[in-house]
Amino acid sequence: MRILQNYVDGEFVSSSSSEVLDVINPATEEVLAQVPLSNRADLDQAVASAKAAFPSWRRTPAAERAKYIFRFKNLMEEHLDEIATLVTQEHGKTFAEAQGDVRRGIDNLDVACGIPSLMQGESLEDVGRGIDCVSNRRALGVFGAITPFNFPAMVPLWFMPYAIATGNTFVLKPSEQVPLTQQRMFELWHQVGLPKGVIQMVHGAKEMVNGLCEHPDIVGVSFVGSTPVAKHVYETGTRHHKRVQALGGAKNFLVVMPDAEPEMTTQVLSDSCFGCAGERCLAGATLILVGQAYEIFKDRLVQKAKEIKVGNGLEPDVLMGPVISKAHKERVIGYIEKGVAEGAELLLDGRVGYENSKGYFLGPTVFDKVTPEMTIGREEVFGPVLCLIKADSLDQAVAIIEKHELANTTSIFTQNGKWAREFAYNVSPSMMGINIGVAAPMSFFNFGGTKQSFFGDLKAHGKHGIEFYTERKVVITRWF
Ligand code: NAD
Repeated sequence: MRILQNYVDGEFVSSSSSEVLDVINPATEEVLAQVPLSNRADLDQAVASAKAAFPSWRRTPAAERAKYIFRFKNLMEEHLDEIATLVTQEHGKTFAEAQGDVRRGIDNLDVACGIPSLMQGESLEDVGRGIDCVSNRRALGVFGAITPFNFPAMVPLWFMPYAIATGNTFVLKPSEQVPLTQQRMFELWHQVGLPKGVIQMVHGAKEMVNGLCEHPDIVGVSFVGSTPVAKHVYETGTRHHKRVQALGGAKNFLVVMPDAEPEMTTQVLSDSCFGCAGERCLAGATLILVGQAYEIFKDRLVQKAKEIKVGNGLEPDVLMGPVISKAHKERVIGYIEKGVAEGAELLLDGRVGYENSKGYFLGPTVFDKVTPEMTIGREEVFGPVLCLIKADSLDQAVAIIEKHELANTTSIFTQNGKWAREFAYNVSPSMMGINIGVAAPMSFFNFGGTKQSFFGDLKAHGKHGIEFYTERKVVITRWF
């Protein structure tokens, strides 16, 4: 069985740990490889190499640094379908969804190629008589990133291109559930010919996460994952005097007004809730149907959900792949059982037909008469389970959203500009859509939620990405 290797000091090396985990194709249950659970000695080597590479990488002109990113972007374009196939194999999402995962990752490389412009500072002559002032953006040192299972190609690219384009060096710890995509992407990075030590990859789990948050030679950490771990990373990292941006979990409410256009809205809502088997941080989890919208949309949504073909994401026509693991399938089934036990009405049961399936498949599930107090109305399920809540007014819908501690994204579906404006103005989630099912900010805007969905100040990519990986140095000059 192939055991994956870390990437340290410009080469692939074996972890000194003998602990490994199986990487499993969730559609076939085939073991694809084994991933090492690296130890602190492995991390120390990676950080030492990144630290040694920093002084000369920082001095490399920004336009030259951008050329490496550009070369990698071209390799990613050439290998897009190959990488997408790996994403489907280790994650389970459909091939089209996997292509989107890679494409959205490449978008970040496009933006980072503009670093000579993006990184520019500010200046003013005569801040005093004969005194000039410049404010430069400078790299800080070695950054680390810890990423989740649900976007194996894209999420690491929310961070690494910006960190290294601005002159920092970098250590990535990919999700131990989906390490193959990054393993292949690092082979492509290797072809780019970056100086040794600029980028490192250390496989592993909890031990590596804590190591990155505590390491004295790491200046900052980017994290994406569930809220409890995001909070832990933020608290541990900041306690060790690091910059931290930690993007956490979600429970996303989509509000449907009675005047919403029925056909497209039904399609978009279904894609939002069941796309990527509900394992997107921007997935619609609960639909709040206001007034007559309940009668208009309820049956349509159930019908649309029934039409979704579930199967191996590499097969044509399949619209929904498996969930990530056996444990996660059991967790989602546990939520469905709680929904029934707590009195929600099961309109479509995704367990049926998949009780003994080979592969971690579940069909779409739709619950009606959900309340915000029920477990399925409150907690992030992260699976293909849609909850319906009926509301009397837009104000009531907004109150339900505002009461929740998570605030990643939300959307409203309406043709009424006044309702849309009121909604956008009054709700907290800091990524939101108007007639959009998955309101994902493009790489040139910032990505991240608020409240318990985000810990830190500066969000992922866009202008915040540049800000997070640099500090400002103000130089005041007078010549006698
Ligand atoms: P996770 O929190 O289980 O894992 C994320 C990372 O943390 C992994 O690299 C993992 O190795 C590490 N980790 C897991 N448990 C840990 C622990 N106890 N201590 C230290 N490190 C630990 O998340 P996941 O299941 O991989 O991803 C799904 C979650 O990520 C969902 O909650 C989803 O909403 C969230 N997510 C959020 C965004 C966003 O933009 N806010 C984007 C993608 C995913």
